[in-house]
Amino acid sequence: MSGRIPTSFIDELLVRVDIVDVIDSRVQLKKTGREYQACCPFHNEKTPSFTVSPDKQFYYCFGCGAHGSALGFLMEYEHLDFVEAVEELASGAGMEVPREAGQVFSGQSHHDLYAVMEKAAQFYRQQLKQHEQATRATEYLKGRGLTGEVAAAFELGFAPPGWNNLGVCLLAQGVSETQLVQAGLIVKKDSGGYYDRFRERIMFPIRDRRGRVIAFGGRQLGGDDGPKYLNSAETAIFHKGRELYGLFQARKAERKLERLLVVEGYMDVVALAQFGVRNAVATLGTATTHDHLERLFRVVSQIVFCFDGDRAGRQAAWRALENALPILSEGRQILFMFLPDGEDPDTLVRKEGKDGFEARVTDATSFSDYFFGELSAAVDMASIDGRARLVEQARPLLEKLPKGVFRHMMAARLAEIAKVDVSALGGLMTTRRSSSRASFRATPVKGAPSLMRTVIQLLLHRPALIACIDDWSILQGLEQPGLPLLQGLVELLQQSPQLSCGAIVEHWRAQGRSEEAGHLARLAGQPLMLSEDGLEVEFIAAVEKLVMLRDEQRWEYLESKVQLGSASDAEKSEYFALSSRGRQQ
Ligand SMILES: [Zn+2]
Repeated sequence: MSGRIPTSFIDELLVRVDIVDVIDSRVQLKKTGREYQACCPFHNEKTPSFTVSPDKQFYYCFGCGAHGSALGFLMEYEHLDFVEAVEELASGAGMEVPREAGQVFSGQSHHDLYAVMEKAAQFYRQQLKQHEQATRATEYLKGRGLTGEVAAAFELGFAPPGWNNLGVCLLAQGVSETQLVQAGLIVKKDSGGYYDRFRERIMFPIRDRRGRVIAFGGRQLGGDDGPKYLNSAETAIFHKGRELYGLFQARKAERKLERLLVVEGYMDVVALAQFGVRNAVATLGTATTHDHLERLFRVVSQIVFCFDGDRAGRQAAWRALENALPILSEGRQILFMFLPDGEDPDTLVRKEGKDGFEARVTDATSFSDYFFGELSAAVDMASIDGRARLVEQARPLLEKLPKGVFRHMMAARLAEIAKVDVSALGGLMTTRRSSSRASFRATPVKGAPSLMRTVIQLLLHRPALIACIDDWSILQGLEQPGLPLLQGLVELLQQSPQLSCGAIVEHWRAQGRSEEAGHLARLAGQPLMLSEDGLEVEFIAAVEKLVMLRDEQRWEYLESKVQLGSASDAEKSEYFALSSRGRQQ
């Protein structure tokens, strides 16, 4: 586990790098006036509507609405998560990423480990070509219908029989024994010495999304030496609950992937690729985790699970469904495909070919059909009791879905199937966020949300406006969604007025407050319909209106107390002061 990246580092990083350089090295930009333009990399277009502002350190697309800082761009464009994007940006700027809580960040120091893994991959590949016993491996691969081309694309290798082939070879190349142990390639014996972890196996190098070898999977060739499939042990660079075999190759094969297919083993991935199905990935001997799904949804919006039709397969599918609930929302689609008895993807694609197999993928069962199908099969839908049981079982599961349109629709479907009134489902139907979390989607009060939005938006576009107001405590007591966000923004800019718009947004994301970061990014992305000279006047006017609104709220509160006779003397005088001020305005 590594500590959190300090926000001060993110600030500094975004001051040091220029978003124009970051984007220009990936998408060629053209200068137009004070900004840069290109055809948007996130949607198809012929005339450029993708704009990068060096002043704001922010990009925005007028076509599809994509927007963000240099970090946000890397996350979207390279499909990285936040931490990975920070690492990538920092390494480009020659900066080392520090971690809080005294934990040293690992990204750079694992450099050696990646190099060792790459050498090992080379060794195994070479053995498949050269070793005298490699014919057993090649025979096996040919028997599975694999051509040399696909074996090369997946860089398959061979771990020869014997206890220390890899060890001897890599030690001779200057790799230390400690490094080999850390990489999980050799195992230390209690009696001293060591032995190779992988022996007499076909080797599948596992690459992370950036293409680095982080682990191996090995399929047993003969004998009874260990399990049929053996993965690398967890190491500093390999966490099996997060990685997916084949994701790197799938992204390489198709730049614009629309859906990914999750199958059981690496042999399935390779066999499907052999038949032209290049979008399959496999978990590494674990159920599909939350991390896996987040990773996949960063690349595509549709995931199809491919399971055996037997009992074990059905159980695994339900587990995958449960793990997916907390991250399923509109725009993210999960489907389930069950294989006929006794078939696996490998045998099926061989029988039916690419088209036949893909037709099955297209026909996969939707999330809601599978969900309600399984639950209603377990109860007697003809009886009231049975339908009540269905509601009882579905409800806690649906409550795990994020609030939003998708959850609302699932609840409506439940009501329909169970023949109950939607109101009986209570909380399930609310799509509004809880009131404790201030949000811009709350009920509008006298145009105040747009005022709040204006103030925040102007600060994002021109952080220097912070200095226009001497005393920000004038907004204290205002009851208005968005106020905590504004207060946070004010506090940040009072400390660091030099921050760019992009850096401000990342400040929230670095603290794990991605919902607020999202709000800020959207506001920052919207173009201002004001001339540069008018900004200050508009800003001060909006803040003044918010102060008036606060006074109004306070006056209403005090008035009710005065009328009820429960106001203190101090409150009474405050009430009269506010009343006379109100008359002056
Ligand atoms: Zn776009």
